Amino acid sequence: MNALLQPDATEADAASVAELRLHLHLRGAVQGVGFRPWCAQQALALGLNGWVRNDAAGLQCEVQGPAAALRVFTQRLRQSPPPLARIDALQQTPQTVRSDEAGFRILASDAGAALATGLPADAAPCADCLDELFDPADRRHRYAFINCTHCGPRFTITQRLPYDRPNTSLAGFPLCPACAREYRDPSDRRFHAQPVACPACGPQLALWQPDGTPIAGVDPLAEAARRLAAGQILAVKGVGGYHLVCDAR
Ligand SMILES: [Zn+2]
Ligand SMILES: [Zn+2]
Repeated sequence: MNALLQPDATEADAASVAELRLHLHLRGAVQGVGFRPWCAQQALALGLNGWVRNDAAGLQCEVQGPAAALRVFTQRLRQSPPPLARIDALQQTPQTVRSDEAGFRILASDAGAALATGLPADAAPCADCLDELFDPADRRHRYAFINCTHCGPRFTITQRLPYDRPNTSLAGFPLCPACAREYRDPSDRRFHAQPVACPACGPQLALWQPDGTPIAGVDPLAEAARRLAAGQILAVKGVGGYHLVCDAR
């Protein structure tokens, strides 16, 4: 039996139907905000099958399972989506239940439709990343390019949509085994984080002469501080632009 699952379905409705399947289409700030891993994590926790993928208009998701669990999924979607997400429109269509599917998958993005999704915005480091940044025991201790599913560069690194690593400036930085493990682990807070990086595999700080020649053999931060103290002016390339830095005294 196939039935419509409305947000206001009663407990009796939920209990009367064994399995339901729903197609969800989301528009708004739904790419580059950790929505695909969020769906996968919720589905895993609730025992739902299905898939999620970015398309050029937003995000599509199909979920299948007991009606009550599906209702919890759509409630969480409305009430507690990923922190950086903003849902402008949510279209919900019942589907025929499938029996040829096990588990929940993140599918390759569909770039076919017309581009209607916004570029995701850059986000300042979250509290968890700042904790790691200043933890001497963490493998990302003092790593300038730290980020996770819920923070980090997005707009600045996106070259085209859909928002996937090969479409960002991180494409040239293949993941090391440790980062690849985090990226693949649904329980990890970097699960499916497109810009994931670490000192072993990600971008590095570099200090350049005004003519573009790299200055080799120095710690870029320590050398930058030394030059500032000596009265030089620095241009610091950051997320989204350059800061000019000098000792104003
Ligand atoms: Zn973070
Ligand atoms: Zn790495």
